[in-house]
Amino acid sequence: MSEFHEAIIIGGGPAGLTAGIYLMRAGIDTLLLEKMVSGGTPVNTEHIENYPGFPEGISGRELMNRFTAHAKGLGLAIKEFSEVEGVSFEEGRFLIKTTESSFESIGVIVTTGTEPAKMNIPGESEFLGMGISYCATCDGSFFKNLDVAVIGGGDAAIEEGLSLANIVRKVYVVHRRDALRAQKILQDRAFRNSKMEFLWNKKPVEIGGKGQVEYILVEDTKTGEHSKVEVSGVFVYVGSRPNTSFLGCFADRDDAGFVLTDENLGTKTEGLFIAGDARKKTLRQISTAVGDGALAAVNLERYILEKR
Ligand code: NAP
Repeated sequence: MSEFHEAIIIGGGPAGLTAGIYLMRAGIDTLLLEKMVSGGTPVNTEHIENYPGFPEGISGRELMNRFTAHAKGLGLAIKEFSEVEGVSFEEGRFLIKTTESSFESIGVIVTTGTEPAKMNIPGESEFLGMGISYCATCDGSFFKNLDVAVIGGGDAAIEEGLSLANIVRKVYVVHRRDALRAQKILQDRAFRNSKMEFLWNKKPVEIGGKGQVEYILVEDTKTGEHSKVEVSGVFVYVGSRPNTSFLGCFADRDDAGFVLTDENLGTKTEGLFIAGDARKKTLRQISTAVGDGALAAVNLERYILEKR
């Protein structure tokens, strides 16, 4: 027998927790399933400065602890370490299978976000945990007074590069173009930071070392020339991939896997909504995830009241 709830939220980041807050306040029986622990990606961000209401900034962990406490305070049931393997829809009910149990619901909001993209170059998987990392907040302290590289020119690379600069001796920013994609305020800060050195028009082609990372081999994207950059750590921020494959045929996705929604964040399956970074959208921030979570919850509430 599957456990029944009127609404099931898959994913416990900003979008999922906000949806939970709205659904609980609407009196909808709701369960949130989270594959790790409540909080989502922002938990790994040292300092968040662009979420309104915190002019001094706030740590990602502290902010997400507050989201979780808010949702739990309203009675939201959260099952952590529950990874969803599949969702199906039959006879007006959703069936959600996790690795250990199964659940049924009238409606579902998917807020599974993204995971870091890989460079897929020799040495990347071999040196994972031995110099290669996708999380500066988690692993930065292992590189105290050493030289490291961040790969990428987006918000994540520059924000995490700045945070690493407080710990390490030097941060090489390896970027495949000659202009950053990151927000201007982050760019200005990085250009002023004497520990940040920019390697423009360079893309990593190999990571090497004996037992642990000792260098990156980079290729000049203009001349094709190869050169070695000696570093002890490589932090990879080359974008993100959505966690949406478990939706099978129940939602349409673009080529990268981001889910296509209508203006109410609904999908081609009635009662299935997507909120946050996993949907196709132009701005991925905590503030937009919060807006998505609220909108999806209000629309799911309407759907459930019709179907009850
Ligand atoms: P992103 O914005 O997609 O940037 C990825 C960077 O990696 C780009 O500079 C890209 O180069 C480069 N890149 C992509 N594939 C590469 C490859 N194979 N080899 C080398 N370089 C490669 O990703 P992100 O920085 O992870 O951010 C993801 C989303 O989260 C964004 O929407 C971002 O705004 C948001 N975010 C926001 C904050 C904040 O508001 N503080 C912090 C973190 C993330 P090109 O520029 O040439 O394409």
